[in-house]
Amino acid sequence: MKHPGAQTVEATQPSGQPARRARRQLLAKYITIFAAVVAIALVSSGALEIWFSYNEYKASLVRIQREQAESAAAKIAQFIREIESQVGWTTQLPWSTGTLEQRRFDALRLLRQVPAITELAQLDPTGHELLRVSRLAMDVIGSNADYSADPKFTEAVARKVYYGPVYFRRESEPYMTLSLAGTRRDAGVSVAEVNLKFIWDVVSQIKVGERGKAYVVDAKGRLIAHPDISLVLRNSDLSNLEQVKAARSGREEAPVTEAADFQGQVVLTAFAPVSDLGWLIFVDLPVAEAYAPLYSSLQRTAVLLMGGLLLALLAGFFLARRMVGPIRTLREGAARIGGGDLAQRISIRTGDELESLADQFNDMAARLADSYADLEKKVEIRTRELEQSNSELRALGEVSRAVNSTLDLETVLETIVTKAVQLSGTDGGAIYVLNDAKHEYELRATCGMSEELIAAVGSHHAEFSEAVARTVELRVPTQVPDLEENAASPVTDVMLHAGFRARLVVPLVGAERAVGALVVRRKAPGAFPASTIELLQTFAAQSVLAIENANLFHEIEAKSRELQLASQHKSQFLANMSHELRTPLNAILGYTELILDNVYGEVPARVTATLARVQSNGRHLLGLINDVLDLSKIEAGQLQLTLGDYSVKDVVHNVFSAVESLASNKNIRLKVDIAPELPAARGDERRLTQVLLNLVGNAIKFTDTGEVAIKASNSNGNFTIAVRDTGPGISEADQAKIFEEFQQADSSTTKEKGGTGLGLAIARSIIEMHGGRLWVESKVGEGSTFIFTVPTIVETQASA
Ligand code: ADP
Repeated sequence: MKHPGAQTVEATQPSGQPARRARRQLLAKYITIFAAVVAIALVSSGALEIWFSYNEYKASLVRIQREQAESAAAKIAQFIREIESQVGWTTQLPWSTGTLEQRRFDALRLLRQVPAITELAQLDPTGHELLRVSRLAMDVIGSNADYSADPKFTEAVARKVYYGPVYFRRESEPYMTLSLAGTRRDAGVSVAEVNLKFIWDVVSQIKVGERGKAYVVDAKGRLIAHPDISLVLRNSDLSNLEQVKAARSGREEAPVTEAADFQGQVVLTAFAPVSDLGWLIFVDLPVAEAYAPLYSSLQRTAVLLMGGLLLALLAGFFLARRMVGPIRTLREGAARIGGGDLAQRISIRTGDELESLADQFNDMAARLADSYADLEKKVEIRTRELEQSNSELRALGEVSRAVNSTLDLETVLETIVTKAVQLSGTDGGAIYVLNDAKHEYELRATCGMSEELIAAVGSHHAEFSEAVARTVELRVPTQVPDLEENAASPVTDVMLHAGFRARLVVPLVGAERAVGALVVRRKAPGAFPASTIELLQTFAAQSVLAIENANLFHEIEAKSRELQLASQHKSQFLANMSHELRTPLNAILGYTELILDNVYGEVPARVTATLARVQSNGRHLLGLINDVLDLSKIEAGQLQLTLGDYSVKDVVHNVFSAVESLASNKNIRLKVDIAPELPAARGDERRLTQVLLNLVGNAIKFTDTGEVAIKASNSNGNFTIAVRDTGPGISEADQAKIFEEFQQADSSTTKEKGGTGLGLAIARSIIEMHGGRLWVESKVGEGSTFIFTVPTIVETQASA
């Protein structure tokens, strides 16, 4: 299939260095293989042919030469045999028979009949010459020269025939002595001098190629016949030549066929022996000439080889180009597909496997493109889903933040309905909350609703409440895909008039009961998808939480308001009570003092003691009432500090002088350490004196032996006053509670010292009203140190 916008790769565009190199490699490979195949075929067939034809050719040449040699040898042998038989005839006569004249006559006739015989001599059986007839000299008769020791006599007698060595006469003619003994004992020996020119004729007639020659050597290896007579006359000895040596040794089975001749020229040679004489006829042909046809055949083969190679190179080049082009196109196309260009199509029209490979690549690319597109679509859908759930999560986060950060129900519900409308893709929404007092569902938050629509809902609030109540009762989300299909009612009409067509109501159901409803409306009709309903249920749960939180908060608010009121009443009552008690108590104390001062006359001792007890208990009661009064004033927020200038030093000294006698009564050392040059101070001197008096009083009260030290210092705009004692100390658990009203430490020692447990509570309140701090540092058995700090200058009272 053709993909839209498919591209084709041009096979002729080299795309880069590696491609070119690869192409060259392939090209070179193909060319080399082609050339090698052709060269091997041609060279091997040429070499084989040359080798075989060389051998055959050489063999046939040698054979021809040998035949020529043999026929020449046969001719020579025939010639010698004929002379032999002619001479033999002269030996038939015994010396006893026939006269010398007769023999001379026979000899002359022989010379006439056989032109090759130049001279004939006859020796008697003792070796003495009887007769000599010659063509060149005068006949000699009865010279009686003694040849009895001459080989031509001795050899002839011994072997019947003797062939003498070749010799030359008249400068150029070869001769040979031929002696023949008669068959009878008294026949004597005939000695003929034979002209061997005939042999030269025979040798000269032999034609071997252009420059081939035949020649004859005798039994000793001397040259005796050659077309070039001068060589013969030089008496050349050829016995050292390779071929002559081999021939003379008679090694017939491995004849030398190629050797250097006596002129140093390499020749093809063959020979034949001349029977009886021991001569050898050689026929030579120079190798250069003999092999000339072979060489030209070799040249032809070489030319053929070159031509073949050239053809192979060309064929290799073209074939490789045809192969490499499409392969490169394939490679480039595949690379582009691999690089992500899936619209890429490879176009190869070779009609072979390469084309089908390209088609497969194209198919693959198309399938890849398809699955890629599919994948992208899926990714897009997933991304959208993720985005949706992301924004849902974000919205839920915002909603729960709103639920947790504010108790303002309106704000929370506004946030919820806005997010619900946004995420459900609807056009408007509202939250109705049940008003318990009115037993009615009230519109509490809206989104996408015009003022006019809100007003319309308000004017039909009873109908809307009823409609909401009906759906909430079902406890499951209910939807109306198209309001137009609903029966006409004020509720439906108002919404249709505002342009809304579809509605989804999710009831807000708390742990015990329904508390309201979340409603979303869409202008386009149609069912709400399950995912939207699910989402709105989550929002509904958050809304319920917010509503219940708000309800709880309101309940707590109401309760704490009630509690505050009750506490105020209690403090008021206590303050009034204390005041009312203090006046008569002061009167009692005053009159008691007057009686004890004997203002009303002498008082008996019994009465004095009782009155003293009345006075002491009365003072204690007054202190108690004063404390209770202070405390109730503090709780009712009525205790007012009287701010004025004071001196810390004076405060400490006043306290010191007040408790001095108390300490000395108990044998306790009272130490005072005031830092020099303390700055001027501003605050409620009376109240601060009350606090220090309380602390020092406690210290003396709870300490049985040792000392109580008061230390006053100043740093960073604060006074620090510490009261240290060597008393029983306070456990950590007690340290936490002794500052609360009516609280005392649990240890029996402190309990039995009496007291009400109000002093420290009042002291802490007074110090805090000065903007300072009061605390204790103590360990059981190691004494206690009560410390307070107050700002040097206090201009306004802080709330305790
Ligand atoms: P009161 O002394 O009238 O009981 P306070 O409020 O002054 O009330 O003290 C509360 C309690 O703190 C005391 O009852 C006592 O148990 C403990 N307390 C206060 N000062 C000391 C102290 N210097 N050493 C040991 N215990 C102390």
